[in-house]
Amino acid sequence: MSDTDTRDPTSLRTPIVAVLGHVDHGKTSLLDKIRGSAVIEGEAGAITQHIGATAVPLDIISTIAGDLVDPDDFDLPGLLFIDTPGHHSFTTLRSRGGALADIAILVVDVNDGFQPQTLEALDILRRSETPFIVAANKIDTVPGWNPNEDAPINDTYESQSDRVRERLDESLYEIIGNLSDEGFSADLYWRVQNFQRNVGVVPVSAMTGEGVPDLLTVMMGLSQRYMKEEMEIDVAGPGVGTVLEVKEEKGFGTTIDTVLYDGTIRSDDRIVVGGQNEPIVTDVRALLQPRPLAEIRTESRFEKVDEVSAATGIKVAAPELADAMAGAPVRVVRDRDVDEVIEEVRAELASIAVDTAEE
Ligand code: GDP
Repeated sequence: MSDTDTRDPTSLRTPIVAVLGHVDHGKTSLLDKIRGSAVIEGEAGAITQHIGATAVPLDIISTIAGDLVDPDDFDLPGLLFIDTPGHHSFTTLRSRGGALADIAILVVDVNDGFQPQTLEALDILRRSETPFIVAANKIDTVPGWNPNEDAPINDTYESQSDRVRERLDESLYEIIGNLSDEGFSADLYWRVQNFQRNVGVVPVSAMTGEGVPDLLTVMMGLSQRYMKEEMEIDVAGPGVGTVLEVKEEKGFGTTIDTVLYDGTIRSDDRIVVGGQNEPIVTDVRALLQPRPLAEIRTESRFEKVDEVSAATGIKVAAPELADAMAGAPVRVVRDRDVDEVIEEVRAELASIAVDTAEE
């Protein structure tokens, strides 16, 4: 920690959330809906778009969730959603041998039910021991549904006819039954007492936003209750992250879109990045964040920042990144011994290779 740094050395970071599920069940739509709600509720200037991820701060969650959330009950700063849904990104994105995502949303279409990729996703979640909740999506497609934009599930449920409620209940119980067949004891989320033992099912519509307040509340509650200790980080310490994507960027050369899950990265840091052959040792040339939409027309899509802290998505421009790999570790050297950091990166790469071979 530098002399001028007055921050509390340990602080709680944002849990990292991944969205999984069968194709067309609504993963992208759900992320878009959450992003959209966050942008609408956010004050002007509250930028929530990161590189490769969307941060939804606690105050915005509490505005979206209304009565469901009392911000005083939480000290985690919000949720960070990885923008690329699907289990390919989930399995390639690791942190210290585990999953990069701390928590997941499994999206299941209420009409289509369990499908091959739903089962694959469950298998991955089971093996990586990632806590998750099920978003039973597209409730607005239940025949006769009376939509209530962005309403909590209880409110919209009350306004449906008996017939519609019965139809929805049938679909939800089928999903709960399927989860149980797969060895997960599950129930509607408001009946779940212990989310470590039982999977909560949250009825939602990515189209109308119904149930989205509940979804955010449950994710926040689950993180706060069961993951708080894991979220304690040395926020000013040397940054640690995972490469999401390696990209050519006009004016910057090869860059790595990175999710930082520990510590801080600064624009004058030396970093070690996992490469195709050997770990790459290089110096950061620029840290880049997306520029707010309104300013994009005149200048570059990115703005430079001096430093960022976990959990966050950031684009890192540096020389020698051509061999960097998606899924590889990134570590800041700062005042550590560079050889030690290289060894850590090498060991992490080896553990990823073993896991991939096993799949
Ligand atoms: P993904 O493949 O899981 O990312 O699924 P998409 O988000 O691309 O959604 C697939 C299709 O389902 C698109 O046509 C969406 O508009 C539609 N869709 C997604 N969520 C909902 C929903 O809650 N209600 C309705 N009616 N359609 C939805």
